[in-house]
Parts: sequence; C-alpha cells; structure tokens
Amino acid sequence: MPDVVSLIRAKRDNARPLTSQEIAWLFAAYANGEVADEQMAALLMAIYFNGLDGAELRVWTGEMIASGQRLDLTDIGKPTVDKHSTGGVGDKVSLILAPLVASCGAAVPQLSGRGLGHTGGTLDKLESIPGWRASLSNDELKAVLKTTGAVIAAAGSGLAPADRRLYALRDVTGTVESIPLIASSIMSKKIAEGTGALVLDVKTGSGAFMRREDQAMELARTMVTLGEEHGVRTRALVTRMDTPLGRNVGNALEVEESIEALSGEGPADLMEVTYALAEHMLALAGIDADPRAAIASGRALDAFNEMIRAQGGDPDARLPKAAHAMEAVPAPATGWLTELDAFAVGVAAWRLGAGRARKEDEVSHTAGVRCLVKPGERVRQGQPILALYADDPARFAPALEALSEQDVIEIGSEPPPLSPLVVQEVGR
Ligand code: URA
Repeated sequence: MPDVVSLIRAKRDNARPLTSQEIAWLFAAYANGEVADEQMAALLMAIYFNGLDGAELRVWTGEMIASGQRLDLTDIGKPTVDKHSTGGVGDKVSLILAPLVASCGAAVPQLSGRGLGHTGGTLDKLESIPGWRASLSNDELKAVLKTTGAVIAAAGSGLAPADRRLYALRDVTGTVESIPLIASSIMSKKIAEGTGALVLDVKTGSGAFMRREDQAMELARTMVTLGEEHGVRTRALVTRMDTPLGRNVGNALEVEESIEALSGEGPADLMEVTYALAEHMLALAGIDADPRAAIASGRALDAFNEMIRAQGGDPDARLPKAAHAMEAVPAPATGWLTELDAFAVGVAAWRLGAGRARKEDEVSHTAGVRCLVKPGERVRQGQPILALYADDPARFAPALEALSEQDVIEIGSEPPPLSPLVVQEVGR
C-alpha cells in the first residue's frame, strides 16, 4: 500500500512520476481523512515546483472528476457546448455568449464560480438583476437548459468536490499558480458538468491570471489535452487582456453593457472576442449558423430574456444604480489614448466594491468603473478617462490610489496600432 510521505518525497525530489494506483489511493485517502491537509499541502507544493507529467495529470484530473457526480446531459436533445474564461477585467462575454449560441440551436450548460480578486464572476454580475437565482438543483438546471437552451448557474457542491478542498488549500499555501493544478481544477469542473464540447478563453496580458503569452499557451494546450482525453471536444483561444473588455467593469454595469451587445450595440473589442468564441462553439456543436445574424434579428436578446426569466429574474426591471459617482483620471495631454491598464482598472473596480477579497464577502451590485475613453480614441487634456461608481464614497480614495500608479494610462501623438485580440487558437 502506498504511503503519503513516500509520494511527497518522490515529487519533492522529482525522482519519478506517481503511478495511477498511487494517485487513486491518494484521492481516496484524502477523502477519508487518512491523508491530512498538511500532507496534501506539502504534495501540492512539490507539484508546484516539479509539475505533473501528461499521464499523471490525466489520472489526477480523472480522480477529481470521480470525486463527485458527472452530469448526464445526453437527453437534452441538442448538442451541448460550453465556454470557460480564465478571467479578465470587464469580461462579460459569458452573459452574451450563452444566449447567443443557444439562439443558434445549441444547448449551453454554463456552470460557474464566483469572482475572487480583480476579475469579476459571472454569477455576481447576473445577481444584480432583480430576482435572478444562481442556485439550481440538477433537475432545475436541466429543465432550464431544455426549455431555453442556456443556463448559467452555480456549480453545485456535487461536482468535483475534491477541487473545492484542494483549491481552498492552494489558496492558503501559495500553490494556486501552477499550470497542472489550474488546468486540472478548471477542467475537472467543466468535464463533470457534462458538456459535450468546450471552448476555452485563456486570457493573457496585464489583467489576466497568466500575464505571459507563453504561459497562457501552455495552460491552453494542457486544458485542451485534458478535455480531449476525457471525451470533451475542446478548443482554446488565447486572447489579449491588456485593457478592459468593453467599457464597463462591475456587476450591474456589465449586465447593462451585455444587454446593449445583445441589442446590436456592443463595442467592437467585446464583439470581436464574443463572435470568435461563438464561431468555435457552433463549429464544435456541428451547427452552421451566423451569430451576427442572431444578434441582428433580436433572437439572441430574446434568448437572454427567456434565460433570465427561467431563473426567477425580471429582465425588464431597472438595474440598480450606485449612490455615488465621480469622474477620474484626467488626461495629462491632448492626443490618442494608447494604453489603459486592465489590472489597475480591475483593482479599482474591486476596491470600489465590485469584487471580493475573501470568498465569503458580499459584492456590491452597483460599484464599478466606466471607461469614458478607450485606447484608440482621441482625448483632450484634462478630459476624464474613467467614471467611478460606489455605494460608499469612502471607497473612492483606495480606488484612486490604484489608478495613480505609473503606466496606468498613456497618451500618444498617433493612434495605437490596431491588433487582433485573438492571438492563438489551440486544438483545431
Ligand atoms: N480557476 C479555477 O477554477 N481553478 C484554478 O486553479 C484557478 C482558477
């Protein structure tokens, strides 16, 4: 029988890969208390330094999936396809994409987590719609999926419960930033959700979890391999996240912009990423449809309204508005805005109350940032670049501090070059 200390030593010394039997034993022993948190934490740190090879990672992810239930969506009657983003500032693409792809004939089972840190969570955004409910039973989510073609809901505690324990441990032991651990964590939940196909949006740049493009590519390749190994047709796009996506950052502010996008009035950068992901999702689902036509005809917006109503929300209700607003970051010169740093804007929105520092914190529905000027647009000296929103005016000072760092904005004498946001495709 394996013993955990010898497994920790094997990984610590990078002496040999763990066998499938050892990994299976480890997960069973961790679940029944035979392996303690401190031993698992030591192993995670050894993995952080020495990684997992392809075979170890496949088995590790398989054990995470097997720790809970794997939903069966084969009776939905339509091809299922989901999308996952590694998280970006102003990244409201899921809110647009799920009803958009559903209105083209696929079923989108989007089980999400909540935001932590400077990037927002899809559930937090939708909860700013009066009445909307994130927690659904498995039967309820299948019923919503069947009738509306899209469901966005909280991933229940039955899906990959081992990830919940491991993630909590990684969070307090400095072992989150490991590509095999991130890939297995994300993919175990997505595979357990039962989707037939998956498109990943792996962000890179200042506002992303993986700032460097080579790291984002490695994460993308690792996740695509894991998806395919576990029977989910998977592709990934690596997309730039140097500046906020769209103009609005914050929960109700992002819902407002998503509804504009579904009404055909979305900003170009947001629509570029949305359409690229939609096309890949539809291709994987085997559906020949044009997502632009679905927006132009109003079908995508109808699907959004139906999806919100099916989960208790009122799509016609007014979205909540912040009690306090101020304009900020005056342009230091006249010219073209060439840079607006995503990370600084994300931290500002978070400090205004849009995000949480600990997972049990409440978020403000109304707090956030609106980009009055985006890179590529003209600006006059003294013109405010951002508007800030908060429920509590005491939040403005720490947000302004995040925005006063060097290099948050840059003004040039010429417009910046237009670069595509999708920089790599993996898995085609
Ligand atoms: N998101 C996850 O679900 N898991 C990670 O490890 C990192 C981000």
